[in-house]
Amino acid sequence: MMKTMKLGRTNLVISRIGVGGIPITRLSESKAVEVLRRCFDLGVTFVDTANAYGSSEERIGKAITGYRNKVVIATKTGGRSKTTALEHLELSLQRLQTDYIDLWQLHNLSTFKVYKRVLRSGGAMEAAQEALKTGKIRHIGMSSHSLDVALHAVPSGNFETIQFPFNFVNTEAADELIPLCQEHDIGFIAMKPFAGGQLSDADLVIKYLLQFDGVVPDPGVKECREIEEIVDIVNGSWKLTPRENGKIEEIRFKLGRRFCQWCGYCQPCPQDIDIPHLMNTRNIRSYGEGFFKRVARAVEAGRNCVECGECEEKCPYHLPIRETIAENIEFFDRLMQEVERPWEEAN
Ligand code: SF4
Ligand code: SF4
Repeated sequence: MMKTMKLGRTNLVISRIGVGGIPITRLSESKAVEVLRRCFDLGVTFVDTANAYGSSEERIGKAITGYRNKVVIATKTGGRSKTTALEHLELSLQRLQTDYIDLWQLHNLSTFKVYKRVLRSGGAMEAAQEALKTGKIRHIGMSSHSLDVALHAVPSGNFETIQFPFNFVNTEAADELIPLCQEHDIGFIAMKPFAGGQLSDADLVIKYLLQFDGVVPDPGVKECREIEEIVDIVNGSWKLTPRENGKIEEIRFKLGRRFCQWCGYCQPCPQDIDIPHLMNTRNIRSYGEGFFKRVARAVEAGRNCVECGECEEKCPYHLPIRETIAENIEFFDRLMQEVERPWEEAN
């Protein structure tokens, strides 16, 4: 029997683990539907996607037939204006083959500028409020990569859930944000539980996250056996043994020096280099074509780095950005000699 939890003040009761909607876009449609249905059959009742995730919503829409009442669907709009957000909503409803979305999230509110923009008159929040009234959505959430924006948003009363990166290497949410969510009864959806493919031991990854009440991890899966393994972990004991804690420490130590938290504090770069994408170049095999294109642009700009070091002064994690981006450009060039479409070759 799948363990369940309440998703903050939405009062939605969901499985203790969700499923993310990105990796299914890199499968054939029939395989994606098979994997999603396996999730639902195993008792996973929370699925998270976004308008921007290519074929994801459409595939979930196909998989959901016969399961709609059991599954809580969360999707997102990157629309900043009311008009664009409402257009996205109609598209999401159509693709998901449903007449309501359980949780509609304003996607990637990672700067105060964007945060203010969606909340001002004519912004995406007006679309969300209108959709609540018409019953097209049931709850409003947001996602962000910025701790400052998230800490500001949680007590604001504007959102019922927040989605934020959280895994045992990127633990910046643990100290303040998660306790604040608990205090305000805001559901916390842990984005990037496997750190975008940099972590692989499901036992460590999932057990670590389950220690936090009110936090639902939403790992993406590409194989039925992956969700079977994860569900076994959820339904077993979550206690990390001293040996497992030791392994976590070891991995943190190994990855820590290079682990970009995607906070964006190093920006802007005087050479106009998209540093976070360049720092995350090694993830191009996990995130699909759109991400690949952004990384490819960042690599091209990265060749103009003048090694001024401004970014390193601003990075709160003291990452060796200059050294890492030089290595990542080399990695990218090598990969491009080996394969033409790395985001596909990885599957
Ligand atoms: S060191 Fe390179 S990447 Fe960093 S700010 Fe200077 S030019 Fe930009
Ligand atoms: S390089 Fe540092 S400052 Fe820039 S996004 Fe990564 S962690 Fe943040």
